[in-house]
Amino acid sequence: MTIYGNAPILELIRTMAANDRLPHAALLYGEKGRGRKTIARYFAMTALCTGDQAPCGECPSCRKIAQDTAEIHPHPDFIWVEHSGKKQGFSVETVRNICKDAIVAPNDGERKVYLFADCDSMDIRAQNTLLKLTEEPPSHVLLLFTAEHRNAFLTTMLSRMMPLAVRPCTPEECRKALTEDHGIASAEAEKAAAACGGNIGRALAWLSNPEMQALTAAAAEATQAVATRRLYDLLRVLAQFEKDRFKAAELLRLLDLQVRDAMLLKYGMTGLMGCDRNSAEALSGVMTVRRFRALHDAVQEAYEALDANVSVKLVLASLGGSMLT
Ligand SMILES: [Zn+2]
Repeated sequence: MTIYGNAPILELIRTMAANDRLPHAALLYGEKGRGRKTIARYFAMTALCTGDQAPCGECPSCRKIAQDTAEIHPHPDFIWVEHSGKKQGFSVETVRNICKDAIVAPNDGERKVYLFADCDSMDIRAQNTLLKLTEEPPSHVLLLFTAEHRNAFLTTMLSRMMPLAVRPCTPEECRKALTEDHGIASAEAEKAAAACGGNIGRALAWLSNPEMQALTAAAAEATQAVATRRLYDLLRVLAQFEKDRFKAAELLRLLDLQVRDAMLLKYGMTGLMGCDRNSAEALSGVMTVRRFRALHDAVQEAYEALDANVSVKLVLASLGGSMLT
């Protein structure tokens, strides 16, 4: 099982296992597509490994988890909790059943690992039902959660889990993952990795989605227009999305990352997440802290206006103006 990026988290998991100090609950949080579930599988593999150096990758347990996917779960003690209820969170009934099941001893080895994936819409009742198990789990239980944001959870729940921030890969790690694991040609993979800020999941979607490609191209063009103060060009790029609130919001998200990258580049910092380095570099040349604030605020304001159902056309036109004043 090859995992690209996030080496510090993997090392921490291995070290905790080697010292017999694995927590009873952990939360892997970060943007979708960064590999939260893949790391959760690695965590489970390490916890359930029966070899010498967990995860050995060779014992029957490791082999079973290596075959685990979103659909097939060959290891009887690695349990993906099924989504249920209206918002595809976890219903109280589902959580109750898990609490009952957790008391029962493992099938194969020493532990049972439960994965609650994508917990962002897990409601308060379900969390409260789970609280007791999270506070005092049987010693054989490991609870893993994934979410975009930590604040998806009540503080009472959060205080019982070890939070682990899942970071994006570098574009190079992302490119490697796309070529080695998904057989994508190197040039294509490089383009996708650069356009998606090292987010493997998003890069895979980008490759097969011309609309996403159009959005990243537009964000790059808009960044360039802001850098060179060409209002007409900026308005023209933005106007392409005035009929689609969802796409307009996605464009704003990409534009905000570009502004952020320009600021990072200005101060020689790493961790770029935007879709186009060239235009971010151009913008960094004319960037000041004040300008960064103004641009970021302008984009956020537009984002909120979109969310509040203001006319998309109006929001984008006024954004164009406020980015270049
Ligand atoms: Zn093993």
